[in-house]
Amino acid sequence: MTTIHDIPVIETDVLVIGGGTAGPMAAVTVKEQDPTLKVLLLEKANVKRSGAISMGMDGLNNAVVPGHATPEQYVKEITIANDGVVHQPALMAYATRSFPMIEKLDAWGVHFQKDETGDYDMKKVHHLGTYVLPMPEGHNVKKILYRRLRRMRVEIENRFVATRLLKDASGRIAGMIGVNTRTAEPIIIRAKAVIMATGAAGRIGCRTPATCSAPTKTRPTAATAMPWPITSAPTWRTSSASRSTRCSRITTARLAPTSPARSAASLPMPMASASSSATTGPGR
Ligand SMILES: Cc1cc2nc3c(=O)[nH]c(=O)nc-3n(C[C@H](O)[C@H](O)[C@H](O)COP(=O)(O)OP(=O)(O)OC[C@H]3O[C@@H](n4cnc5c(N)ncnc54)[C@H](O)[C@@H]3O)c2cc1C
Repeated sequence: MTTIHDIPVIETDVLVIGGGTAGPMAAVTVKEQDPTLKVLLLEKANVKRSGAISMGMDGLNNAVVPGHATPEQYVKEITIANDGVVHQPALMAYATRSFPMIEKLDAWGVHFQKDETGDYDMKKVHHLGTYVLPMPEGHNVKKILYRRLRRMRVEIENRFVATRLLKDASGRIAGMIGVNTRTAEPIIIRAKAVIMATGAAGRIGCRTPATCSAPTKTRPTAATAMPWPITSAPTWRTSSASRSTRCSRITTARLAPTSPARSAASLPMPMASASSSATTGPGR
């Protein structure tokens, strides 16, 4: 019988859960800031073709490009379109960072449509501003992100679904436990920081169609719909073997709870999936 002591353990500095679009971008950004950090990206499918844009994109529908739109104009437009149910500071942050991100992706090889002058070929679809930037080769985006992950030496674990975040004795998130989607093999990852990028999951928790069509702010989210009790967290110590574990290798190093009497069944696995929000973004 498998016990907690048999579960493979990986140690990393930063764990990113979810390898769609946001996850790879977050992982690469961490490595850009500090290449010495171990960064592990965990995805329940395969990072090469997972997430909302696995089949590609035909354009950016919310691109705020200088000369075509301003961040202020964009915030106004989206506020009106969403009947005021928006978080304007977040929208403004998105809008001001939009162009630097486009330039970055452009430099990585993502092809955005340009006109004969070399300027971005923006299309007007919205009422006030012009925010749509076609991507004629948008099917390549995940391939380009994947290439970037490899270049930046981000470790990748495919086919593992995170099921619980784990906390340390002080109550800080300290990793996760998950399971292989093909073999059901469990895994524990210890991390100094965890970034959740598991997608919008906006409909999780909808019990009736009426709940789902309720105004955005009242819809249950992954966090509110699954109130797992937060119990006291385990205090971990590792064997010397697991301390030297590299991210890329799943070893058989074992985590030993400080209390030897603690069994796998008694381990509290507090659910802390607060990253997913039902809040409607700027739209597609
Ligand atoms: C059909 C379609 C067309 C779109 N077109 C456009 C467009 O033209 N322009 C535009 O700007 N935007 C478009 N979007 C929106 C945009 O693609 C998404 O908003 C964006 O890709 C979301 O990225 P994300 O990383 O937040 O989420 P996702 O891409 O959903 O990634 C989340 C990842 O997390 C993984 N995951 C989830 N739970 C777990 C877990 N417990 N453990 C491990 N892994 C987990 C999932 O497998 C997934 O790979 C489109 C979306 C769709 C669906």
